[in-house]
Amino acid sequence: MKNKVVLVTGSARGIGKATIIEFARKGYDVVINYIKSDKEANDLKKTLETDFKVKALTIKADVSNENDVNNMVSKIMNNFGRIDVLVNNAGIAIDKEFDDRTFDDWNKTLTINLIGPFLVSKYVGKIMVKQKKGKIINIASTNGINAFFPTSIDYDASKAGLINLTHNLALQFAPYVNVNCVAPGWVNTDMNKNLPKELIEEETEKIYKKRFAEPSEIGKVICFLASEDADFINDEIIKIDGGY
Ligand code: NAD
Repeated sequence: MKNKVVLVTGSARGIGKATIIEFARKGYDVVINYIKSDKEANDLKKTLETDFKVKALTIKADVSNENDVNNMVSKIMNNFGRIDVLVNNAGIAIDKEFDDRTFDDWNKTLTINLIGPFLVSKYVGKIMVKQKKGKIINIASTNGINAFFPTSIDYDASKAGLINLTHNLALQFAPYVNVNCVAPGWVNTDMNKNLPKELIEEETEKIYKKRFAEPSEIGKVICFLASEDADFINDEIIKIDGGY
């Protein structure tokens, strides 16, 4: 039997990389989407193929560019002929004081974090509906639910929007595609590496588990949602924040 195929957007590093490693460990063939680093993506491809004996395809594409998305999905279909799981992971956060934030900051953040997942889901969802089977998992954030920061006001709005998109996509692709969303709290990735030390200490104190999550702890929940054990979980938002 052929391996299942997963596309994780923005998967050359951080949570996306940890997630794609978990999928490869489970025997999925994987599509590593990236926008900048050819080297990181190619190194990851080699590691996954060697360690887990799965097929790995790297595709450079900007999730907020409809042409790129269309080409990426065609390439996956030409290589694998199917897409079983999509993880909308790619995202950005521009940290700036409220008064310094510009229209361009908002535009960039919403375009990548919200319109990007819509575009990828539009093209992949069409295929999944044709297959009569598929799983889409969006990565939002507790910033879209119960943790608000005026220094990332547009990011927070983009993640609240992604939660709303989850509900609409679940309805649009029913009954064939399960669309769910995970909302991590603080995670140890490069996205947070430049935060002030005091903020990290303050925020760690607010977390019941007294630490940030490791990226693999998010990846494992995503893999569960993609598995057959989670076939009746649909249109759900799952916080992964250690208690906050
Ligand atoms: P990261 O910056 O390490 O990874 C984000 C990835 O997305 C990068 O590889 C980047 O190149 C890619 N990307 C950015 N714009 C893209 C585009 N237009 N097209 C394709 N790829 C693009 O950050 P991370 O912490 O691993 O975050 C992954 C996801 O998890 C993001 O959606 C983020 O908002 C979300 N998240 C992160 C945290 C956290 O604390 N780190 C918490 C909650 C949610």
